[in-house]
Amino acid sequence: MLNIDLHCHSNVSDGVLSPADVVARAAANGVHALALTDHDDVAGIAAARTAADASGLTLIPGVEISVSWGGQTVHIVGLRIDPLNPELAAGLADIRLGRIARARRMGDDLARAGITGAYEGAFDYAVNKEMVGRTHFARWLVAQGHTADMRSTFRRYLTRGNPGYVEHEWTTLENAVGWIRASGGTAVIAHPGRYAFNARQLHLLLDAFRALGGEGIEVITGSHHPSEYGKFADLARAFDLKASRGADFHAPGEGVDIGCLPALPHYCRPVWQGWPELAAHLSPSLS
Ligand code: AMP
Ligand code: MN
Ligand code: MN
Ligand code: MN
Repeated sequence: MLNIDLHCHSNVSDGVLSPADVVARAAANGVHALALTDHDDVAGIAAARTAADASGLTLIPGVEISVSWGGQTVHIVGLRIDPLNPELAAGLADIRLGRIARARRMGDDLARAGITGAYEGAFDYAVNKEMVGRTHFARWLVAQGHTADMRSTFRRYLTRGNPGYVEHEWTTLENAVGWIRASGGTAVIAHPGRYAFNARQLHLLLDAFRALGGEGIEVITGSHHPSEYGKFADLARAFDLKASRGADFHAPGEGVDIGCLPALPHYCRPVWQGWPELAAHLSPSLS
């Protein structure tokens, strides 16, 4: 079986490894094809591609775009995007500007709760100063001893109803899917199990996404409990969406490692079906 992982992060967003080190880790884990999907930025793809070329791994250029839909934040993964596409690049640059403004408000909110210095502290953990997010705040909060680990940090801070959480308007679903398609990519709904939608709302999201030209949904992800795999595989089938698989790796020792996931259920239509760049792995004797 091919080991294909289509969701991970480098230190261009909120992961801790450089793009080259992410690729090296994927190769060491036996991954054949990897999509680097940093949040709202494609700045890591060139370095990842260089590393992939050297290791024989196939690099799929990707991105994970932050969207506001139905009163919640939804993440849309773009696969096989063109990182140089001007429309995509401009849209992502706008989102990153919004992140910096949001970080200021998050810092102010934490200060009101008695935690000062968080804005500056978060930037210390952001290698890419344009791509600052809650994970950087969380790493700083842990390092400062406010909380013991990432999980408890997000439980006490940075989530709705808790200090450090501020409402933020990301881009629209229409924009995200539009930019991905304009750049030649395939749009995939990330970790559907993470959203606080009821079944009706989730169905509305899938309908809206499909109407805009979205094609896939993550079924096997590090963000889903194994007991959820079947539910989302069924949903993919019911909505005629292709299925994706990705660890959503951020850091060694945190969550699921790259490529370390079960295969897609057999009745799923893999999002990577027919991608010519995978042919060499499928029939190595012919390559
Ligand atoms: P942001 O895009 O800045 O709102 O940050 C979202 C990121 O925070 C996600 O991509 C995860 O990396 C991280 N995150 C969100 N919730 C949790 C959680 N409960 N535990 C650990 N990391 C989380
Ligand atoms: Mn993240
Ligand atoms: Mn996500
Ligand atoms: Mn992710």
